[in-house]
Amino acid sequence: MATSEDYYTILGVARNASKDDIKKSYRKLAMKYHPDRNPGNHEAEDKFKSINAAYEVLSDEQKRQQYDHLGHQMYTQGGRGGSGGGMSAEVIFASVFGGDGGDFFSSFFGGSRRRKNGPAKGEDLLYELEIDFEDAMFGVEKTITIPRTESCQHCHGSGAQPGTSRKTCPQCQGSGQVSMSQGFFSISQPCPNCRGTGSILETPCSECHGAGVLHKSKPLKITIPAGVDSGQRLRVSGEGNAGQRGGPSGDLFVALHVRQHEIFVRDEQDLYCEVPIPFSIAVLGGEITVPTITGKEVLKVPAGIQSGTKLRMRGKGVPSLNAGRGRGDQYVRVVVEVPVNLDSSQRKKLQEFAEACDPEKNPSTHPRLHAFLKKARKFFL
Ligand SMILES: [Zn+2]
Ligand SMILES: [Zn+2]
Repeated sequence: MATSEDYYTILGVARNASKDDIKKSYRKLAMKYHPDRNPGNHEAEDKFKSINAAYEVLSDEQKRQQYDHLGHQMYTQGGRGGSGGGMSAEVIFASVFGGDGGDFFSSFFGGSRRRKNGPAKGEDLLYELEIDFEDAMFGVEKTITIPRTESCQHCHGSGAQPGTSRKTCPQCQGSGQVSMSQGFFSISQPCPNCRGTGSILETPCSECHGAGVLHKSKPLKITIPAGVDSGQRLRVSGEGNAGQRGGPSGDLFVALHVRQHEIFVRDEQDLYCEVPIPFSIAVLGGEITVPTITGKEVLKVPAGIQSGTKLRMRGKGVPSLNAGRGRGDQYVRVVVEVPVNLDSSQRKKLQEFAEACDPEKNPSTHPRLHAFLKKARKFFL
């Protein structure tokens, strides 16, 4: 969203407007130009977009400072703009970028565009974070410490001691190139004194020694929303490395790895678990207590259930990332456990049972066995 109009002009506020004034003005304009109120009106839509772009910057202390410092043109050319602000994290689905997202990252981290003199956006950073299964279900706040560069506050990232400025490089007279004569040839190469920029610092900043950035390890609190899964990434806007020569910071990407659970296996929004049930409950039906991610629940087991049957518990699955979309389901796969280590009286009762429901005499008690025997009979001749 590149607009040529100054953000203050767009929002109709003075350059020294307070945070509240900016907010008020933004709200008024956003209401007026909201696409819902102006269906099919592209001019209003564009206007609405610029209002949002302007507000995204001016409502954020740090971005506003940067904007003021750089001016509109420089700031918007630095590749800023877009979504998200401050610490708000948005979830990026791995599927959008295909599989493991390798391509996506190589293009992001491979190398930032470098311009010799202009401001350059800082590098994006990737942080691998392992979280517990429960944290993925319910969301969690984590504080992570990321080593990164931050813009030097003393010189506002310029690298020049406040009150001093850059001066024309004496070696190349500002051209950034030096020529060397070798016989008939004259070879031109970037000036080593100013690294081809044409200017050097009059006095380097006393804090960052001219780098414009400082290395810092900053603890950062990030909010992981409920429902995230392994392979997804959170983008925290503007928390990557500091930009150069006043350019905006890069973004921080947090790649999530969810630890396995002892009981539950996840498949998208659904959870699966296996619960052994006694032979008698499988036969007679009954109630069993099963775990869910929000606590124990009583589950009715119908009489005559076969081993391997899945019972669905609606809405007991994984919360949706889109708040208000509810939860997936939980599937309980019942496994009939054949009783072992019977004592003599238990054994006797079971023998009585076996006689009472001999599949040969009472075929309806074992319909599957009965059907099988019918088909297999010819092999038994
Ligand atoms: Zn030079
Ligand atoms: Zn500095």
